[in-house]
Amino acid sequence: MLFKKPKFANKLLSKVFRSDFYIYKLYQANRQYQYKKDELTIIGGRGYNKWAHFKCPCGCDEVINLSLMKSHSPYWKLKIDLFSRPTLWPSIWKKDGCESHFWIKKGRIIWCEEEQDFGF
Ligand SMILES: [Zn+2]
Repeated sequence: MLFKKPKFANKLLSKVFRSDFYIYKLYQANRQYQYKKDELTIIGGRGYNKWAHFKCPCGCDEVINLSLMKSHSPYWKLKIDLFSRPTLWPSIWKKDGCESHFWIKKGRIIWCEEEQDFGF
């Protein structure tokens, strides 16, 4: 018998593994969608990703939009591990507003002051 992994399992796992972000994938952009603080929303289709949206982790409430498309400049590489934790490369640097500069590595926010070794 086949079991589908229920969606809440990802959420639960990411809590166990102390993730700041877990992945939520939308197959179509949805203007009504309310971004949650601990959710990294991916817009894309089956087998490809176009955009990553998430609320700035500093608490300023702004939504950060990153392109995951190689045809765009700049674009970010996204990796999702077995526990649904996202890693983005390179770092995210908001050039306006709060000017936050951080990495997302295995679902965790690493502020640039704490920068250590980030082999992708
Ligand atoms: Zn911010």
